[in-house]
Formats: sequence, C-alpha cells, structure tokens
Amino acid sequence: YPCHVQGYEPLCSGMEDFYERRLYLRAQDCANRPISSAPDSWIDVVERYTNDNNKTLHRTTNSTRCLNLGSYNYLGFAAADEYCTPRVIESLQKYSPSTCSACVDGGTTKLHTELEELIARFVGKTAAIIFGMGYVTNSGIIPVLIGQGGLIISDSLNHNSIVNGARASGAAIHVFQHNKPAHLEEVLRKRIAEGQPRTHRRWKKILVIVEGIYSMEGELCKLPEIIAICKKYKAYTYLDEAHSIGAVGKTGRGVCELLGVDPADVDIMMGTFTKSFGSFGGYIAASKEIIQYLKHACPAHLYGTSMSPPAVQQVISAIKVILGEDGSNRGALKLAKICENSNFFRSELKKMGFEVLGDNDSPVMPIMLYNIEKVAAFSRECLRNKVAVVMAAFPVVPLLLSRVRICISASHSREDLVKALEVFSEAANLVGIKCSRVEPQQT
Ligand code: PMP
Repeated sequence: YPCHVQGYEPLCSGMEDFYERRLYLRAQDCANRPISSAPDSWIDVVERYTNDNNKTLHRTTNSTRCLNLGSYNYLGFAAADEYCTPRVIESLQKYSPSTCSACVDGGTTKLHTELEELIARFVGKTAAIIFGMGYVTNSGIIPVLIGQGGLIISDSLNHNSIVNGARASGAAIHVFQHNKPAHLEEVLRKRIAEGQPRTHRRWKKILVIVEGIYSMEGELCKLPEIIAICKKYKAYTYLDEAHSIGAVGKTGRGVCELLGVDPADVDIMMGTFTKSFGSFGGYIAASKEIIQYLKHACPAHLYGTSMSPPAVQQVISAIKVILGEDGSNRGALKLAKICENSNFFRSELKKMGFEVLGDNDSPVMPIMLYNIEKVAAFSRECLRNKVAVVMAAFPVVPLLLSRVRICISASHSREDLVKALEVFSEAANLVGIKCSRVEPQQT
C-alpha cells in the first residue's frame, strides 16, 4: 500500500482478507457499473472497456440499453412522471436543491411539514418525522428510543442500518431466528426471566425490531403473530417498511394493510422514500408524543441537514398519485400492476426450476445460486444479453448463500418480463443450473 505508515497496519487493512479481496475484485466486473440514465425499467449501463482490433482494452463511456431488474423502483416513480416531475422542477426552482440547514435552524420548509402530515396519514399514525436518509433514520433513531438497561430483540436478517442503530444504543441485543415467531417468543421468555445481567432487575423497556419485506429474502414479515407475542410480553414493536411501503397492500399502505394488521398495534413505523416513491430520505411515524420527543432528542434531526426540498416534493406527489389525489386512477393501476408482475415472474421462475425465495405479492425475488462464481457468471451472461440484475454476495449475504436478486417494478411490461425469463434460461444453462424453459402465457 503506497500510503502505509511503517510499523502500523494500513488504514485499509480490512481488505487484507484473501477471500473478501478476491471475490470483491471478481464481482467488480458486473457490479458497480455506472449508469447514464434514470433507474427506470430500462437503463443505460456504461461499458467500461471496448476491444480494438488488436484486442487491446480501452476505457469508454459508451453505454448499452438494458432491461433493469435491479433498482427498487417498485411503482415506476423513478422515471419522469406527468404529475410528479413538473412539481419537482418547480420546487427545485423555488427552494433550491438543499435547505443548507438543520430542521430546527430554518431547514423546515412548508413542503417538509406537508410531507410529515401526509406520510403519517398514509401509514395510519398521528405524526411523523422525516430524515435526509433512510439509513440514518434507523441508525439515528434506535439509540434515541432505547439505551442502557433496555433490551432489543432483532430479527437475525435485519438490515445493517438497524444493526448499527441497535449497537450504538448500548441496549442488550439478542437476535431471533429469521421470521420465526416461535423463536422470538422463546428468546423473549428467557431474557425476561433472567432480567438484566448482574442486577437481575427487569429491563427498562423491550423493543422488537422487524422488517415488512426482507430485502435479501423477499419474505413478508409474519407480523400478526409477532405483534401478538409482543403484546403478550409487553414489548414495543419497530417495523421497517423500506421495501413494503407503497409496494404492497391494496392501496399501497404496506404489510399492515396486506396482512390485516391495525397500524395502532405497531409502535414505530419506519420507512424509506428511496424505493416505491422514487426519491430520497426516510421517516418514522408514531404517536404525537413519540414524534415530539424524537424531534427534541434525536441528534440526526437536530444536527443533520434536512431533506432536499425537491426530494420532499417528489414523495408528496408520488403519494398523491398513489391515493388518487392527482385526479387519476394511475396509482391504483400501478399497485395492481406490481402485484400482477411480481406474482407472474415468481411463478414462472419456479416453473422453470429456479430456487426462488420469498412470498407471493413480494416484488423482491432472490434466485439462489450459492456459488459466487456462478453468481458472477450468471450476471455477466445476463448483462451480455442486455438484462441487468443485482449480485448479492459476501458481505451482504453469507458467502455460501450467494444469490442474484431481482426487483420487479410496475413499470415492467409483460414483454420485458418474458425477455428476462428467456435470458435467465440461457444464463442458467451456461452456469450449469438445471432449468426447463416454460412458455409463459401472454395476457
Ligand atoms: N432499511 C432497509 C430494510 C433497507 O433495505 C434499506 C436500504 N435498502 C434501508 C433501511 C436504508 O435506506 P436508504 O437506502 O433509503 O438509506
């Protein structure tokens, strides 16, 4: 390392790990490809190199149009939209890209207040607070809700932003087996029985943290069972709806609506604006008292710059389309389409013999390949055939559970999905996965 201080470890010593470095370099080939378009259903993927006649590689900025199965553009709002885009442009001209201030120091515009009220109404809570980033929403809020003497029980596959928030809180942390309510109950019973280590006092409070749809598994949370257990053991519930809000439920209100759960039974509803709403930022929706407390106590809110006004306007407009408050039925059509697309694609993949994780209605579809070399080869073959997929490998998932992850969008046409199935079939043959081509029915 050129910047290595003699006698000390290099700053980048984490990359020393042989497997990590080797796999990382191999993955670079397909991953981290810049794109030169909006992350819509089709994207322009920049080619890194071209071959000249002497077979020498040259850097290039040419791009290829590819079908995009990687972005979290669940409702298609990442593309220019007849209702959202003109309003976003107007807000950019009126407010500029940044408030250049924290919320409490002049960083709250009329738009911020409107979005807080709108998102609370949308998810069925009385109040909400918004943040400039979804990751910071989890990692910044959890330590404000719970600290030393508290107990966090976290699903074993919760997102890294939750893990970091829990670690920063100073509370005792225990995990339960992914999406297994029976194991959650076992962990709760044991931990409550033993109280706090050394003092054997009761915990000050207990917070159970789960996700609506798990981003690497595509599974829906077993929320009704989990809530029943939390009520029985007097634990608070924290639900991260990053991948479910806007994406599932008849009117897009997430897993509570889909699974028939009353939002009043979830204490903290968290979500991000980076998926279904095609924007940026995150929110916490809860009771008025909790939100008031968070606004006074959360460092990320007090010291961080508020959400970019055009990003706020994008979410407001997208929610209005979803609710039909734009005067059209486009929102309802988008919601019906994402559900139809997800269920069609999942069932076709299964018929073809792929091992696909996750539940019906979920737009997140991991295809298990287990072997990182196969994941890289599969992705490369897809890209060669103009289909972009996401490689999910170490450290995002365990090395031996490497997979390709598909995200379905309402903006994919049936033709797009049929093309993807054809390309997958060829890529599967190439990497040695047994897979039969089933002719999907055109509708
Ligand atoms: N929670 C979950 C479950 C996520 O998957 C993500 C990121 N995909 C986040 C939080 C962080 O959100 P953001 O990317 O909007 O910062």
